[in-house]
Amino acid sequence: MKLLEDRILRDGVALNEEVLKVDRFLNHQMDVELFNEMGKEWFRLFGEEGVTKILTIEASGIGMACIAAQYFHCPVVFAKKSKSRNISGEVYATEVASFTHGNTNLVIVSKQYLNPEDRVLLIDDFLANGAALKGLMDLVHQAGATLIGAGVAVEKAFQPGGEQIRAKGVRVESLTRVKEMSTGSIVFC
Ligand code: 5GP
Repeated sequence: MKLLEDRILRDGVALNEEVLKVDRFLNHQMDVELFNEMGKEWFRLFGEEGVTKILTIEASGIGMACIAAQYFHCPVVFAKKSKSRNISGEVYATEVASFTHGNTNLVIVSKQYLNPEDRVLLIDDFLANGAALKGLMDLVHQAGATLIGAGVAVEKAFQPGGEQIRAKGVRVESLTRVKEMSTGSIVFC
């Protein structure tokens, strides 16, 4: 998506070969008009699939998922990071390793909000090693719901997550794919 690529080139900061900062418009300060164009694009890609729920993960996927949901006319559910390991049988739970913080979080979704009848679209800001999306896929699987695919804003194609998830037969639509980065330089696929 040219609009997002241009914005990343203008306002994104490659901290090193692995981490891209997009705080100015995507995951700290948020450009809602840009989110709207992203939502429109995901709807163009997945709009015929009968999506009944968008699932994302706390925190940075929530804003863009909400804007996208206005096109899909469906609710957004976000997987919550749980501090308590003492979880009840009322939730689906899975472990997700955090790319940015280097720790592992238990993430949960109440069983009330994912059902076997649901057709679920995953949305997240970044795809790196794929832990976040794989965790969300596990929650969808536990619920017996149908996974439609994943909409990602920025896929770092030099990290293995995208390839691994596509190899499982999941449709992943990334609006931008970064081929390589180094301090001050970002190259798209
Ligand atoms: P994964 O689970 O695919 O390894 O990483 C995806 C998650 O880590 C995303 O939810 C995102 O919050 C975070 N993340 C991964 N790579 C980056 C990055 O380069 N920049 C930022 N800001 N977040 C990232």
